[in-house]
Amino acid sequence: MSSGWILCKPKFMESYETERLVEEFGNQKIEVKLIDPNEIDIFVNKENKQSILVNGKSLPLPSFVFPRTGSGTTYYIKAVIRHFERMGVTVINSSDAIDNVKDKLYSHQILAESNLDIPKTMLLKHPIDVEFVEKNIGFPAIVKTISGSYGRGVFLAETKKQFNQLLSMAELTKPNYNIIVQEFIKDTWGKDLRVLVVNNKVVGCMMRQAKDDDFRANITRGGEGFPYEVNEQIEWLSVESSKALNLDISGVDLLFDNGGYKICEVNSNPGFEGMEMFTKKNIASEIVSFIKLKVGINGQDN
Ligand code: ADP
Ligand code: MG
Repeated sequence: MSSGWILCKPKFMESYETERLVEEFGNQKIEVKLIDPNEIDIFVNKENKQSILVNGKSLPLPSFVFPRTGSGTTYYIKAVIRHFERMGVTVINSSDAIDNVKDKLYSHQILAESNLDIPKTMLLKHPIDVEFVEKNIGFPAIVKTISGSYGRGVFLAETKKQFNQLLSMAELTKPNYNIIVQEFIKDTWGKDLRVLVVNNKVVGCMMRQAKDDDFRANITRGGEGFPYEVNEQIEWLSVESSKALNLDISGVDLLFDNGGYKICEVNSNPGFEGMEMFTKKNIASEIVSFIKLKVGINGQDN
């Protein structure tokens, strides 16, 4: 019987997504274990390529590994993921793909290189030249931490004065912090699109709408979702950005802009509770079917 491991931190082992994935793996007759990547020991030598140590116990290698650590992927967890790859285990998403999106500036560099529409973005250089930001991005401007999720590291500086205040606050907490400044896409205020892409196909699309008057539309901030019809541009932007970033499974955020869309960010470990709830799609089943395909497990012999 084929078996795989979902790498997941203890606090997410009972999350909606983990439980749904375990259920769907079960429905499709694939055995999965939930493993905390921080309990895996990395021993590197040239002999042993068949087993791995978990909590000091040697276990046979799984047929696939499914990391679900997203922007919480620490150096250690990434090393664990790479270790599996070096031992020939199929990893979904790959360590390279996770790396491509962990840093929002880096993912924007890749998207821009692939000619995909993103908001104008710059990395702040210290000391900060506010005039330069004003000239090239303008105000209002979006200020974002390089790595973050749930809308927590995303701020709106409506004026140059607010921008200065925000930066002096950030500087107090951490001198030489890394922050990106981005063109504010005004049409999208309080709403955006979340598109789930599996194996270069759109498997779910919803519009998210903030419930308060915040500019951020994240469901985790209390936003609501509505099924949204996929058109050619949505499909093209989401699939091409997933391909450019080498992601097998991704959550693409699109901003509404002037009758079209711009890519806001791409996630390697998308939540799908909201998507399943608001669109009634079975996202977990799409993910599991794809993993079966990728790992080469066929329905009969497992
Ligand atoms: P997170 O990783 O925390 O979800 P995002 O970059 O996706 O961060 O931003 C969170 C939300 O903020 C988006 O879903 C969108 O509603 C809003 N937002 C982000 N960037 C912009 C922008 N350039 N212009 C307007 N709204 C934005
Ligand atoms: Mg987002």
